[in-house]
Amino acid sequence: DSIISFRHVNKVYANGTVGLKDINFDIPRGQFLVVVGLSGAGKSTLLRTINRLHEISSGEIQIDNEAISAYKGKALRQLRCHIGMIFQNFNLVKRSSVEKNVLSGLVGYYPTWKCVLGLFSAHDHQRVVQALDRVSLTPKIFARADELSGGQQQRVAIARTLMQDPHIILADEPVASLDPRTSKDVMDTLKRLNREDGITVIVNLHSVAIARQYADRIIGLRAGELVYDEPIANVTEAN
Ligand code: ADP
Ligand code: ADP
Repeated sequence: DSIISFRHVNKVYANGTVGLKDINFDIPRGQFLVVVGLSGAGKSTLLRTINRLHEISSGEIQIDNEAISAYKGKALRQLRCHIGMIFQNFNLVKRSSVEKNVLSGLVGYYPTWKCVLGLFSAHDHQRVVQALDRVSLTPKIFARADELSGGQQQRVAIARTLMQDPHIILADEPVASLDPRTSKDVMDTLKRLNREDGITVIVNLHSVAIARQYADRIIGLRAGELVYDEPIANVTEAN
């Protein structure tokens, strides 16, 4: 039962740069997949084709056995709603509260002006509390985002994606700017959501050491090509 399938996917950027070259693989539902590769290998391109932040040049990507190229307008927005994305730099509104940052995850379902004015219901507030509980940050709900450590800010970003009830979380170098201690908190959080809530997680990492600790499976990219694809049981020190 695959949640995501790549079939002969190619991506060539407008300036001629090859982002992805004939990528083929399937991701089983509930897998914790780590994508490794040097800078420029195509990791970020690969992630962004899944929620169509980047359009592929040829081939097909399926989610739940449906080609995502067919989605337009409202259907595309709904597809994206169920795919949470987190980034290396967290993308939080720094001077805003944790609560408002998490609540903004509802945008798309929810009129933006309500968030801006803080006009949200007790039920919305309850959902924010629940999302923060999933990332172990409930006590920080009224803190300003930029008062938190990097690892805490990344967990706020994860809580924000939980407001969309994601089936898939895409994490693009989520710990690249964090120290080992806070990296662990972030990776543990992603792993818990994967294990306990069944969310399929795809993480780009340049650290194979971290990949080895968390992944069910590791794939490797080099110059846009998939050059490595192994379940974690087959990954040895030499890799
Ligand atoms: P596409 O619409 O093909 O997915 P984007 O909209 O992502 O492309 O990017 C538009 C332009 O931005 C590219 O054609 C390129 O000139 C520039 N660009 C953005 N990021 C990069 C990068 N990492 N390397 C080179 N050029 C880049
Ligand atoms: P990674 O995430 O592994 O560092 P990327 O997916 O960002 O790799 O980049 C893959 C290749 O595509 C690189 O050569 C990069 O410069 C290029 N690239 C990325 N985004 C764009 C863009 N918008 N326009 C043109 N080239 C890009």
